[in-house]
Amino acid sequence: MEKIYDVIVVGGGIAGYSAALTLKSLKRDALWLGAELFGEKLRAAEYVRNYPAVCGNGSLFADRLEEQMHREGIVLTKGRADAVYAGEIFTVTAGGESYLARAVILATGVSQTGAVQGEEEFLGQGVSYCAVCDGALYRGKVIAAVVASQKYAEEVEYLAGFANTVHAFCLYPDAHFSKDNIVVHMEKPLRVEGGMRVERLVLREGALDVAGVFCLRDAAPPAALVGGLETQGAQVVIARDGSTNLPGLFAAGDVTGRPYQYAKAAGEGLVAAYSAQAYLAGKQS
Ligand SMILES: Cc1cc2nc3c(=O)[nH]c(=O)nc-3n(C[C@H](O)[C@H](O)[C@H](O)COP(=O)(O)OP(=O)(O)OC[C@H]3O[C@@H](n4cnc5c(N)ncnc54)[C@H](O)[C@@H]3O)c2cc1C
Repeated sequence: MEKIYDVIVVGGGIAGYSAALTLKSLKRDALWLGAELFGEKLRAAEYVRNYPAVCGNGSLFADRLEEQMHREGIVLTKGRADAVYAGEIFTVTAGGESYLARAVILATGVSQTGAVQGEEEFLGQGVSYCAVCDGALYRGKVIAAVVASQKYAEEVEYLAGFANTVHAFCLYPDAHFSKDNIVVHMEKPLRVEGGMRVERLVLREGALDVAGVFCLRDAAPPAALVGGLETQGAQVVIARDGSTNLPGLFAAGDVTGRPYQYAKAAGEGLVAAYSAQAYLAGKQS
């Protein structure tokens, strides 16, 4: 029988770590799932002035967290969640793997590059956040990818293995790919347009007919990850205890809105963990 965790924490940043650390102290059986450990937003900070007891850059901050993590026996399971199915038992899928839990804490942060206008409207109708999940649907077609950083180059190459042409809109300098059917554009498209499905991307000059648009970046909109989740734009609507409109689903950190700060993210991670604990205790009694 497949293992059922008490809680799955999705997101490898400070909010997710704080939730995982708190769940450990509460003796809950938790899985901490993240695309990367303490990503760019932590490591790239030039100097952290506003987090208690940290005087130094982001990389020093990340080292301190890693030291604590090892001492506490906390492990990050590497994986990018592509869907969270809510219910009595939650299912989280990540690149072909699936994990079960009685509660989930969403701590996936926000994307620095921002959404393309119209993207959410066409979600599931030609807009996708996962090349591996949906790439094969576009065999022989002309598609676009809006690519936040070089680390997604492999996913663009993967798409090019199916598509006739991939127009890669790269939001970083020096983009390069190996496949000939990838056309590089160094601009952010203005809008996704279409009827029932995606039909075109509107650019600064003119438009480009495409059958699909892949948005490849660190944080997909939470509504794309969890069906039925109440959001306002890119942010999850939460109560003060971190609970969302879906019973058993909690959220913490940048994904719940401003201020985008480490201390707020860590604090919300802790609150969400305690709320998940109370939710589970309520179910058991
Ligand atoms: C350059 C820079 C400097 C900054 N300096 C400061 C500072 O000095 N002080 C301060 O207070 N704040 C600072 N910030 C803001 C701070 O980085 C954020 O507020 C904080 O990192 C938010 O933490 P988080 O855990 O909510 O999100 P994030 O740090 O964004 O972590 C979310 C993690 O979840 C992962 N993820 C996303 N989607 C999925 C998925 N589907 N499945 C699995 N994993 C996923 C991402 O890869 C990411 O690692 C800075 C930000 C930047 C960019």
